[in-house]
Amino acid sequence: MITIKTLIQKYVNPLDWSSATRAALLLCMTLAAHMQYVLWCYYQVSDLSPEINKQYINLALFEDHQFYLNSILLFTVSLLLLVLSFRKRFPESEAYEHIASQYYSFTLLYFSYFVGTLHIATGVVLAGAPVVGFILFNRRAVLLAFGVSLVGQGIISYATTTGALPYAPLVKNLQGSDGALSLFWMETMYFFAAPHLIVLLLFAYHVLTEWRRREHEIRLLSLTDPLTHLSNRRSILEDLNQEHERSGRYGPSFSVLLVDLDHFKHVNDTWGHPVGDLVLVAAAKALKESVRKVDYVGRYGGEEFLVVLPGTDSDGAFQLADRCRKQLEMIAIDIGKSKPINITGSMGLYCNEHGRSISAEQMLHYADEALYKAKASGRNCVIVSENEKDLLPTR
Ligand code: GH3
Ligand code: MG
Ligand code: MG
Repeated sequence: MITIKTLIQKYVNPLDWSSATRAALLLCMTLAAHMQYVLWCYYQVSDLSPEINKQYINLALFEDHQFYLNSILLFTVSLLLLVLSFRKRFPESEAYEHIASQYYSFTLLYFSYFVGTLHIATGVVLAGAPVVGFILFNRRAVLLAFGVSLVGQGIISYATTTGALPYAPLVKNLQGSDGALSLFWMETMYFFAAPHLIVLLLFAYHVLTEWRRREHEIRLLSLTDPLTHLSNRRSILEDLNQEHERSGRYGPSFSVLLVDLDHFKHVNDTWGHPVGDLVLVAAAKALKESVRKVDYVGRYGGEEFLVVLPGTDSDGAFQLADRCRKQLEMIAIDIGKSKPINITGSMGLYCNEHGRSISAEQMLHYADEALYKAKASGRNCVIVSENEKDLLPTR
């Protein structure tokens, strides 16, 4: 069932819209601008408009062009209905965006001729529309429409300088009899320019906000392990390198801990891969909950985790590693059998105390060697590497 929520979710991000929907939006904007203009004209010729306005407007021009104005209105609605009716069948045809952009620039060219090519409303559209257009529309379509629009503006402007065309034929008098700019035209210019500008700005703001949000989401996804939601290998190595740089040669001690689940293959072989996944998620949670807020935990490989402990000397790192080990021991996964599944982990720890000159890769290498020794020493224990001298198993 289509609810308001699903509609909002579907349409909230213009970057997800199909070509046809984008074109329909542009046609709606064209229609709105055109209706604003036509209604304004009808109002000015009606009795509702103050008599004094009539001295500023060339109403005869409106009457001459009434047929074209109504035809454009009708044509825009037909074009919009056509796009909407073909939207489902060919949602991604580039042609929609070409047609809609060209039509948008053509109608605005027509209006800019009436009110003057140097009119503020003309400038707003000419500058604003391509900016928003480039964000959302096919760039070739926008460039082409912008080019046609520029050339058209140039031709009309030049023709008005030679007298071949009247400049701003809708405007009878820009100034009153006292020589001051008429309040009527000032208000009218803003009446046409402001809504267009506001819509363009709000739209650009919305699209860019969605763009940033999406970029943030993509970045998070590219750094997160989808199963455990810990940092993935790339991200935890970035954290390690960053911490290594920060700690520097004379900086505070910092430690790395490699954790490998014991006999994990056996869990998979006995209970199946999905249960293995449950164990991995539980292990990740246990590790995350055992460390401090400033520590980094990441999934380094299949059932291997890397913990980076900033500002931690070997005593502190050992205590923390042993806490992690005990937390892993406490995992009990109930899969409806008589006994829950338990797991243990072996740990290799390397502490770079007093900023020894050692690379991040070398630290990992020593931690890995210590982990290997932990496995060899019977598993479920922490081995601290002291570069040359490894401590005895601590279980
Ligand atoms: P050891 O105590 O020596 O570490 O033995 P082990 O069985 O844990 O080590 P081994 O490297 O032989 O097996 C690791 C297993 O982890 C093999 C692999 O199929 C499994 N594994 C890796 N990634 C995943 C995963 O995402 N989900 C599941 N369920 N299993 C995984
Ligand atoms: Mg392993
Ligand atoms: Mg293992």
